[in-house]
Amino acid sequence: MIDHKGLRGIVATPIGPNWIVAVDQEFWICGVSGVVDVPHTSTMIVVGDVVWIEPEQDRTELGDLSANIVKVEPRITVLSRKAAGKAQKEQVLVANVEQLGIVMSATLPDYNKRLIDRYLIAADKGDLEPFIVINKMDLIDPQYYPDFEDDLHVYIEQLALPVIFLSAKSGTGMQQLQDILAGRSTLLTGPSGVGKSSMINRFTDARQRVGAISEKYEKGRHTTTASLVIPLPGGGIVVDSPGIREFGIFELEAGELPFYFEEFTPYAAHCKFAPCSHTHEPNCAVKAAVKAGEIDEERYVSYLNLKETL
Ligand code: GDP
Ligand code: ZN
Repeated sequence: MIDHKGLRGIVATPIGPNWIVAVDQEFWICGVSGVVDVPHTSTMIVVGDVVWIEPEQDRTELGDLSANIVKVEPRITVLSRKAAGKAQKEQVLVANVEQLGIVMSATLPDYNKRLIDRYLIAADKGDLEPFIVINKMDLIDPQYYPDFEDDLHVYIEQLALPVIFLSAKSGTGMQQLQDILAGRSTLLTGPSGVGKSSMINRFTDARQRVGAISEKYEKGRHTTTASLVIPLPGGGIVVDSPGIREFGIFELEAGELPFYFEEFTPYAAHCKFAPCSHTHEPNCAVKAAVKAGEIDEERYVSYLNLKETL
């Protein structure tokens, strides 16, 4: 047994052969040497891992806090992809993510419901609890707010998802966002330009501080595209990832598609044919429900679009 008198932190991002570990709001440069207590056989340390570090007497040569990782805690969740080349071997990319925050903007760019549906499937596959953020509401005349709620009705009412209308610029909705992020680990995703960084920067300058550290140590080397953990001041973390497409959860097989449209399920049982693709078959209960307005037509369009891509 190793004696774990040390500090408990979260692996924020790789830095060369080492790691930046967040202990509350403080960042430590951590090496891995000697015996590390690791409970899993896959990738030893990944972003999001909860680790125990033992501080070193001296700071790094560039003056940063220095420590050694001595223990990795068991992972609650993992996002992974199959490692290239080696059949079936899984490569863990991020550990311990619980939620998927799907961030879009009200305009500039307009939100895209087809993409929201895709992300919802990814959340389902990755066992992440999804919520939706619509940012840049300050650019919308308040008289049109009800139209937005109408347009997103299927998510708010039928799928009962949290939908947060936000302005990272004015601060409207930031309390609601803070509440949903508090104490949890959230992967943020969405197209670029919707305001993900602006949102997070309202809470903390952690991204800038990690950026400055990385810059200092990786000068001249190509810039990192790794995932980054941003610790929030009130507890909880946000995982900022260059693109969730690289996670296996974005790959879909045709047969499983209908199961990711959960509101189709009660109807699908009444289709004449089983299995039914809900496209060309006669007496399809899903199509009938779309016609009757019981299934949202646009969700059905998403379904058809996705089906076409498989
Ligand atoms: P990211 O690519 O998702 O990280 O988006 P950024 O945070 O870099 O924001 C992209 C652009 O949108 C920047 O010019 C921001 O100033 C702007 N922006 C972000 N949030 C808001 C907002 O709530 N309202 C308005 N009007 N502009 C915003
Ligand atoms: Zn059908």
